[in-house]
Amino acid sequence: MLFVDKSSNHSNQDSKKGSLKSKLETIFNSSEAKAKTGEKIHQNQNNDIVFPSDKDTAKKVGNDLYEVTNPDSILVHVDKTRKLPDGYTPNDLVYPNVPLNGGVKDKTKMRKEAALALEDLFSSASKDGIQLTAVSAFRSFDRQVQLHNSYIKSLGSDWTNKFSAIPGTSEHQTGLAIDVSSVAYGNQLEQGFGDTKEGKWLAENAHRFGYIIRYPKDKVNITGYDYEPWHIRYVGEKNATYLYTHNLALEEVMEK
Ligand SMILES: [Zn+2]
Repeated sequence: MLFVDKSSNHSNQDSKKGSLKSKLETIFNSSEAKAKTGEKIHQNQNNDIVFPSDKDTAKKVGNDLYEVTNPDSILVHVDKTRKLPDGYTPNDLVYPNVPLNGGVKDKTKMRKEAALALEDLFSSASKDGIQLTAVSAFRSFDRQVQLHNSYIKSLGSDWTNKFSAIPGTSEHQTGLAIDVSSVAYGNQLEQGFGDTKEGKWLAENAHRFGYIIRYPKDKVNITGYDYEPWHIRYVGEKNATYLYTHNLALEEVMEK
């Protein structure tokens, strides 16, 4: 299922929220029911939420390894078994205009749409007295290859395959993900960030700007990643709000 955002008319949206929400729920549920019976889903004639299915957006390239065919989609699903095409780099990377707060500008590149949303998120946080830091966003394929190879050399392939992302399987390479921390938390990326007021603000508000906490605490078995309260992923406002409201991970709406 996927959110196809056909409506750019946001002004109507609030007044219709109640009925829209139940409509979306109906669509979601019926999509899910159909997916289970293996039928094809055509649910995007109105405005709504249709997440692409995993199987329609990747091709098999190895044992338990797939390559995504929609790398430029804001709904691209990359994980340990779904890699980006070799060497993939988004063609619209920019530096978000956010206060660095001790972060390093070079590490903050993101795709334009995600960067603009991040600017809104940071300025809204700031108005609430929350000083966030953009710690690490886009990482290139080449950089991951370098890292991976150096780990294999120094620590062996068993260790490396366990702890280092296979090049192409890091969400950071999509340009849609960023690791965020706070000045108050020493800009660290640790699970304790989730218990700080900044981490809580992020978890409760990211969806308003199109971001989700990509690896939540209660979804470890579903995402295959440990809890990362600092790693947020841009999916667009409607999609993020839907996932947040229904407490769903990307995996849960795309697997069929
Ligand atoms: Zn991350």
